[in-house]
Amino acid sequence: MFIDARALDDRTLVESDIAVIGGGPAGITLARSFANRATRVCLIEAGGLEPDPASQALYQGESIGIEYPLSGSRLRWLGGSSNHWGGYSRPLDPIDFEERDWVPHSGWPFGIEELAPYYPPASEIVEIAPAHFADHAYWQKATGEVLPVPVTGRMQMRYVHFSAPTRFGARYGPELERASNISVLLHANVVNIAASAEARSITHLDIQTLSGRHHQVRAKVYVLATGGLENARVLLLSNDVAPSGLGNQNDLVGRYFMEHPHLGGFAEAVVADLKRFPKICRERVAVKGRAVQAAFNPSEHFLREGRLLNATFMFGLAGKYAGNGESDPESSVAKRDMLKAARHFLTNDNDGHEPAGAEGPAPLGYLLGMGCACEQVPNPDSRVTLADDRDALGLRRIRLDWRLTEQSRRSLVEHIRSLAMEFGALGIGRMLLQVAEDGIWPENVNGGSHHMGTTRMHDDPKLGVVDRDARVHGVDNLYIAGSSVFPTCGAANPTLTLLALTLRLADHLRAQV
Ligand SMILES: Cc1cc2nc3c(=O)[nH]c(=O)nc-3n(C[C@H](O)[C@H](O)[C@H](O)COP(=O)(O)OP(=O)(O)OC[C@H]3O[C@@H](n4cnc5c(N)ncnc54)[C@H](O)[C@@H]3O)c2cc1C
Repeated sequence: MFIDARALDDRTLVESDIAVIGGGPAGITLARSFANRATRVCLIEAGGLEPDPASQALYQGESIGIEYPLSGSRLRWLGGSSNHWGGYSRPLDPIDFEERDWVPHSGWPFGIEELAPYYPPASEIVEIAPAHFADHAYWQKATGEVLPVPVTGRMQMRYVHFSAPTRFGARYGPELERASNISVLLHANVVNIAASAEARSITHLDIQTLSGRHHQVRAKVYVLATGGLENARVLLLSNDVAPSGLGNQNDLVGRYFMEHPHLGGFAEAVVADLKRFPKICRERVAVKGRAVQAAFNPSEHFLREGRLLNATFMFGLAGKYAGNGESDPESSVAKRDMLKAARHFLTNDNDGHEPAGAEGPAPLGYLLGMGCACEQVPNPDSRVTLADDRDALGLRRIRLDWRLTEQSRRSLVEHIRSLAMEFGALGIGRMLLQVAEDGIWPENVNGGSHHMGTTRMHDDPKLGVVDRDARVHGVDNLYIAGSSVFPTCGAANPTLTLLALTLRLADHLRAQV
């Protein structure tokens, strides 16, 4: 059932078994896990069924570190940011879960084997199943092309699947509306998670609508699922009993904010024979109605040997290279030199594979565009706090101080070099690196709208906000769903993993409620 909180009598009390705060991918998935069972679920969503500027404005805040769009990187209505996510889906790599002595603050309380059973159902939810993320032979057979097998020992191929992309509100909303045991409270902003004395348990949620109504939701168990930035903000705002915010007894809530730094324009690549760089390496290909693209990732062996952080590189076709340096009149001198040097290689190599087109002689090669997303070191100074400004509900706005460390930058530079080596060694083409030793960030770096780490998971309450079950340390009945619990973030897009974690949490709660 859908309920518009603005239409309820003022000061209505809604009672439930589980209260889920936030109707994005995490909250919707948790609620669906209980559909048509005896357990009553109340899903509380700040927005409605459509975007609304007044609701969205509640997401504005201050960015005081690396420039970051706080409203532009998330959406506040049913479905959350899945209403404009790109659908890139891949699990974390096994090494991402490990405590690595070269990555400060690294390590999950468990290994990938704990999430392994949940990735296939998570893949079904984002409509990419059956997924083959690392199955080279499968993709070779499915595409009928010979796929490159990295030879330097530094890189490996992985396969990114693309969700439709699934818009969680539109796709799963009707199912929630029909479920006899689920109430979806719309236009309902949770403004406070109210706790008992000493904040040992949650007593109820205070709800406010933008139209001025106040309500309460009371449940046995509460799950906070408002996204990787807002989860921290809501805990910090819930400070009536715990002055520094709920779960913040060790000053950890909001710290360790991580993004996947995205960088483009760090190299120019030219490839002679597109057969050496098959379609799946340079664009999405559809196999059995599913879109997939190959990515280059550092091998686990190289990450260990080089004491490096994880990264993902993807390519796209950028244009034709005529061989005279004139394809791009804006070319830098260095790029023209690279193309000149590559000319010999290209002439020998192309060997008439690419026939002359109607527009004239065959190109000597092709220019590729490249992008990368990499892992950042968990950094306690990269953090979410509260600003002094207030939003339309009277709540302190979010303040984000996103910071990166030199270790992450050096690691990325090393991977870019490895990629160029691999490219040459495989005989795919030639690459001109445009990475100065310094200055590739923060100026040139963007985030990917991936918000992670602000309520990190750790068995020790002094080192994490939630325990291995995603329960807030010290609070009996409050859990967190979403990428804010990631202690490290690897280089894979986060949604598939946060869904796997949510399904695991649902199993845990089924045993509790
Ligand atoms: C442009 C863009 C592209 C992206 N592309 C990808 C991609 O390709 N692959 C990938 O893996 N990820 C991608 N992401 C990230 C992905 O969208 C998020 O990982 C995912 O949406 C997080 O789900 P969530 O449920 O944790 O949080 P959200 O999606 O943020 O949902 C949180 C929900 O909580 C509600 N809410 C917030 N505050 C309150 C409150 N106080 N009370 C009640 N409700 C509240 C919000 O309205 C929202 O519906 C992208 C994001 C963006 C913005």
